[in-house]
Amino acid sequence: MAKEKEHVCKQCGYMTTENKCANCGAENSVADKPKGLAVVFNMKESQIGEKLNVNTNGKFALKY
Ligand SMILES: [Zn+2]
Repeated sequence: MAKEKEHVCKQCGYMTTENKCANCGAENSVADKPKGLAVVFNMKESQIGEKLNVNTNGKFALKY
């Protein structure tokens, strides 16, 4: 299985291999090359999640 390239949602920074963002639902709104990365394991207790307006667990770019 080939490793899919990850993209960054321009709306919320969510890292995804799909064309549609699983966090905010934005379509065709992905950019390459995140400059910083945050991994949210528990978005309800994460200060990063609060700051980034995260709706789901996953990887988020800090700058994009
Ligand atoms: Zn998004």
